[in-house]
Amino acid sequence: MTENLPAEVEFELKRRLGQRSASALEKHLGLTTVGELLNYFPRRYLKRGELTSIAELPRDENVTLVARVVSCTTRRMRARKGTLTDVVVSDDSVRGLNQVHLTFFNAYRADKELLPGTLAMFAGKVTTYQSQLTLTNPDYVLLEDESGFDAEEARRPVPLYPATAKLSSWRIKAAVEALLDIVDFSRIEDPVPADIAIRDRLYSLEDAYQQIHRPQDMESVAKAHERFRYQEALILQTALARRRAQAAAEEATARPHRRAGLLERFDASLPFTLTGGQQEVGATIAAELAENHPMNRLLQGEVGSGKTLVALRAMLQVIDAGGQAVLMAPTEVLAGQHYESIRRMLGPLAEGGMLGGDENGTRVVLLTGSVVGAARRSVLRDINSNEAGIVIGTHALLSKEVEYYDLGLIVVDEQHRFGVEQRDQLRAQAIKPPHLLVMTATPIPRTVAMTVFGDLETSVLRELPAGRAPIRTHLVGLVENPGWAERIWARAREEVDAGRQVYVVCPKIGDDEGEDPASFEPTADAGEESRPLASVQRIAEFLGELPVLSGVRIGVLHGRLDSTEKNATMAAFTEGQLDLLVSTTVIEVGVDVPNATMMVILDADRFGISQLHQLRGRVGRGSLLGTCLLVTSLEPGHPSRERLQAVEATTDGFRLAQDDLKLRREGDILGSSQSGGKSTLKLLRVIKDEAVIEQARNDAAAIIEHDAQLGDYPELAQAIELYLNPEKEAFLERG
Ligand code: ADP
Ligand code: MG
Repeated sequence: MTENLPAEVEFELKRRLGQRSASALEKHLGLTTVGELLNYFPRRYLKRGELTSIAELPRDENVTLVARVVSCTTRRMRARKGTLTDVVVSDDSVRGLNQVHLTFFNAYRADKELLPGTLAMFAGKVTTYQSQLTLTNPDYVLLEDESGFDAEEARRPVPLYPATAKLSSWRIKAAVEALLDIVDFSRIEDPVPADIAIRDRLYSLEDAYQQIHRPQDMESVAKAHERFRYQEALILQTALARRRAQAAAEEATARPHRRAGLLERFDASLPFTLTGGQQEVGATIAAELAENHPMNRLLQGEVGSGKTLVALRAMLQVIDAGGQAVLMAPTEVLAGQHYESIRRMLGPLAEGGMLGGDENGTRVVLLTGSVVGAARRSVLRDINSNEAGIVIGTHALLSKEVEYYDLGLIVVDEQHRFGVEQRDQLRAQAIKPPHLLVMTATPIPRTVAMTVFGDLETSVLRELPAGRAPIRTHLVGLVENPGWAERIWARAREEVDAGRQVYVVCPKIGDDEGEDPASFEPTADAGEESRPLASVQRIAEFLGELPVLSGVRIGVLHGRLDSTEKNATMAAFTEGQLDLLVSTTVIEVGVDVPNATMMVILDADRFGISQLHQLRGRVGRGSLLGTCLLVTSLEPGHPSRERLQAVEATTDGFRLAQDDLKLRREGDILGSSQSGGKSTLKLLRVIKDEAVIEQARNDAAAIIEHDAQLGDYPELAQAIELYLNPEKEAFLERG
């Protein structure tokens, strides 16, 4: 610990507020410091005199409502000792449900305070009792106090905090107000540089905190939001700019293009021409590889847009310049597929020094957990001796026993399965920092890329190679079309009879286990009553006995099989020895079987938009028309069906990614906690606040250019630490 006093924001609440308030805030909201409470922002604001619409109150939830007392009666209870006070409140609307009954047992003051005409705010859980809306023993606070009526006070908006059953919004408000009165704002460091605050006429930190918690009017709230949003964006963008600058300052070995090398010969052998996007991105990458500091590039493109080809061309340039390249894939299945397809694409160029191979060619090796014994030793030797130019594998590549001769380029496929840490670990295995190319098929809107992948430069492949057949997607609602439960399998049969192959995707492996968290949309209907979800095991069994599918060769693939089994099944499907594959989302990324033309996704509502889009990218890989059926048992109109409709409506991955952001809560996108407490994106909205993010990004770049160590910006440097820790790494790596 340092000798210094803690900064004002780190002061414990119990030293600033009373013990009772402090422990309630800690117990119910996890807030322990001054900074945490100041940053616990209201969710919304009530205009005084504006009543809550009772017809729209959610049931069985904790609510805060503002209503006017209509009547108040107290009587002795017959069966028990004591009194029962029944207060009826209304929202003054003339039609529909406009009243709530409040029941107080042995009211302490309610019978005297809640007189007809009184306006008050109530908090509690709304239940329905004898078809009346009821709040039992609600907490309440009077809004108009005749004695101290103050016209100005009456115009102020009332902040509503995210509250819990035990800690109501106005108790939080009272604690915050007590704090605002005693905090020494001069001791809170402002991360926003003064010149920027002046330029943009931002509120001072003190004004911003005062106005967000105790606003004059709604314009002040907006100004406070504006300042905190900018502040947040600046902190984040400065952290990312610093990371970029650090990377750019690193030295790497330049791998310039060599004439008459493998790359040129490979290009000459291609049976098709590169798409415009492939050429453009290829040129950018070629130029960056030729620099003596590392490339850090994110390549986005729809499934099938030809990213792997772009990566392969980059690898060949590096090999021509004397280096080695690794391609890291998230699963063994995918690594195996890359290995096969890259060897196929390279042909004799991949058989350097081998009989019948090209004498100037290179060699491609595969290293996964299931490559063991002598085979593994041989692979390791080839890597170490530079015999192997291209190394393809899984996490096994991170093992210490892998020693490269001269690692020049790392390609990471499907970034969202790899974290920054793993990227760094792989980099550490090279003599000098290698160049890095990250590929993802999950389209990332620009602002998200700026926010989440701000340390990488971004390229996008927008067009698909010509001759690619589109995918037709249909939403199949079993509630309104029960007949489809059978019709689906008849359609699958037709496909198989035409010599095609079918995927059936289920959200679960078996029925015995709990939900496999990896294959679930984390927020989807949590807590909903659980109807049994389609499991790979049950569906495979069911389909095996289905007369309409008799004779169809069915395989099963999921994460609990050992890798030999997985690889064998995948190989059998690829080679057409299986007609129908029942699987979990293990087939989500990269798997490429052009003859597969149909995908049935069962309980599709359990998957997210991006995941569904990825999944259906597995069909229609060749020139054959693909069909994807999104099967759901949810009622029409269920909110989770919106995602399915979005996926049905378009195959434009970028539009879907935008929809996805709109339909999800922000926190889910960035993977941060929802509490509103610590290092989440609190006010910043990655889509809506594009302009703010853009501005902050430019400002951050200027700051870092002028002062990479942030020596002149200690407050900003400190804010980055506070904001990003302890989830710093986790935060920066989200995809
Ligand atoms: P991605 O990695 O983006 O999913 P791939 O690189 O695997 O896409 O390409 C998908 C398929 O398209 C592969 O079979 C590949 O050989 C082929 N392909 C790539 N680029 C082109 C092109 N320019 N023209 C025609 N086919 C292409
Ligand atoms: Mg791919």
